[in-house]
Amino acid sequence: MHTPIYLDNAATTKTAPEVVEKMLPYFTENYGNPSSIYGLGGKAKKAVDEARETIAKNLGAKTQEIYFTAGGSESDNWALQATARAYGEKGKHIITSAIEHHAILHTCRELERQGFEITYLPVDENGLVSPAAVEEAIREDTILISIMFANNEIGTIQPIAEIGAIAKKHQVLFHTDAVQVFGQIPINVEEMHIDMLSASGHKLNGPKGIGFLYIRQGVKIRSFIQGGQQERGRRAGTENVPGIVGIGCATARAFSIMEAKTKQEITLREYLIDRILTEIPYSRLNGARENRLPNNVNISFEFIEGESLLILLDGKGICASSGSACTSGSLDPSHVLLAIGLPHEKAHGSLRLTLSEENTKEEMDYVVDNLKQIVDRLRSMSPLYEDFLKKETKKAKN
Ligand SMILES: *Cc1c(COP(=O)(O)O)cnc(C)c1O
Repeated sequence: MHTPIYLDNAATTKTAPEVVEKMLPYFTENYGNPSSIYGLGGKAKKAVDEARETIAKNLGAKTQEIYFTAGGSESDNWALQATARAYGEKGKHIITSAIEHHAILHTCRELERQGFEITYLPVDENGLVSPAAVEEAIREDTILISIMFANNEIGTIQPIAEIGAIAKKHQVLFHTDAVQVFGQIPINVEEMHIDMLSASGHKLNGPKGIGFLYIRQGVKIRSFIQGGQQERGRRAGTENVPGIVGIGCATARAFSIMEAKTKQEITLREYLIDRILTEIPYSRLNGARENRLPNNVNISFEFIEGESLLILLDGKGICASSGSACTSGSLDPSHVLLAIGLPHEKAHGSLRLTLSEENTKEEMDYVVDNLKQIVDRLRSMSPLYEDFLKKETKKAKN
């Protein structure tokens, strides 16, 4: 088996070789500043325009509605903070969900400190936001609804078109964090009534440090970074030309392989889920089975610490991620897993495997075979599991 087996594509993806190749000349030969008058600058400007067109076309948007940023986090911060500033006179209420990425949630906390009121909608056991609950939460002073398109931990895809229609009906702006979705699933900002949308290059086999915010024409939104007139005066700073070329190329690539990639990932995902759930006792799937990102598997194993699981999987050359934030220095389990109703101990024992089109069935078998052994081994050392077994035998005797 060729290792590492990379199963953490929700965290980041490999930059596709053709993307790198397309970027390289923009470091070395066509390094001009797109704002310059001479031909070298013109070449860079043309490349930036082309990338913008590719992205707009694949979203059903206009080219002038795409603004390049330094990634998903910046796009999320910009959408929320600038809307709050531009529409704060009109109202101070924002609706979001409890399972957003921290780029949204922490920005919301900051806005609360500035006097905004945020409604964090709960989700059901599958991680779904109810469109009816969104509608009920709308008030006179609601200026923005921000609901993620699909969740990065459990893969649940939200009913975005329905939520968009509700936002439109009530004339409230609608932003969606589509970082996990752009390039994976078709999106049409017109049909889905999306006013703002965040995406990031490194989640779709493009480079890191580049993303974009789609802003519907007519939405009043201030500049996030002050300076020059780049990005129609709304996002200053000399363009990250190689990055922009990269995200443009990654977008074209993602949409051209989307159908085949989705089909393959779903086949492997279902195979992986079925094998794990049938062969490893006391395991459960987190997130919706149907409305789910093609490449996401998230499983909780009772009586296990996610961190130990990750370390032992790494020992077998398997790159995965857990549902708890322990690795980042906090002992809190994932806010997403808690929001879908998992008790702390189950949330701690969860594992996220996110696939790519490069994974194979052979790799899935290798992963499950090792996972079974590792789970067994960890449980054999767990006092919780021992207690549980004792209780079970007692029950059986009675
Ligand atoms: C990765 C991710 C982000 C952050 O994007 P960066 O480009 O890494 O800043 C935001 N939202 C979601 C849902 C993500 O998965």
